[in-house]
Amino acid sequence: MAEMKHDFSGIGMTSARTRGRLVERLRQQGIRSEAVLAVMGNTPRHIFVDEALSHRAYDDVSLPIGLGQTISQPYIVARMVELAVGAARRDKVLEIGTGCGYQTVVLAQLFKTVYSVERLAQLLDKARTRLRELRISNTRLRHGDGFVGIAEAAPFDAIIMAAAPTYVPEALLAQLAIGGRMIFPIGNVDQELRIIERTEEAYIETKLEKVRFVPMLPGLA
Ligand code: SAH
Repeated sequence: MAEMKHDFSGIGMTSARTRGRLVERLRQQGIRSEAVLAVMGNTPRHIFVDEALSHRAYDDVSLPIGLGQTISQPYIVARMVELAVGAARRDKVLEIGTGCGYQTVVLAQLFKTVYSVERLAQLLDKARTRLRELRISNTRLRHGDGFVGIAEAAPFDAIIMAAAPTYVPEALLAQLAIGGRMIFPIGNVDQELRIIERTEEAYIETKLEKVRFVPMLPGLA
């Protein structure tokens, strides 16, 4: 959980200026959490995209990662993670949609343990390799269906979905800890970001801004 416990300085990190600019832009876009800003500035996004695209790794855009999927734009990662770290505890987080593993690495620096589920085996394998390269050891990656979650590891203090379902998955609500927060895009063409906070008595849902994510799909591939 301690920020900066991961030292990525040996892996050909881009210049401090490029990272500084990313953090400055996130600040201007409204990201307030210093912990999240520090982690975003510390995480080598360029190693998660193809070499041909690595010059764009610190631009605020989503980029292709293969199989029709994309690495989320830095702003939306920061936004969702900032909402997640506002949970009552930062013990366990569940990420739905590992993709290239970038957000997984961001979360690994802010939560004690990260569970991440991906339905595409090929993407998961690549993400695993990268996490190993970065010597990240507090992540548990699983080839599985995000609609099902990981019941045996529940409850989770936070759940983040990187793909948009058209309805709230029941199983995930059940796996949310009391005091926990679920952050997710929802919808088909018109999507919006939402947060559900679980209290002792209820689930409180709040609608946030319009967003654009790849769809959350059932089944494995
Ligand atoms: N955070 C990732 C985002 C990848 S895009 C990154 O920054 O790279 C969303 C991912 O969600 C895709 O890899 C897609 O395959 C995955 N996904 C879609 N539906 C899913 C489901 N039901 N269960 C698990 N993963 C799913």
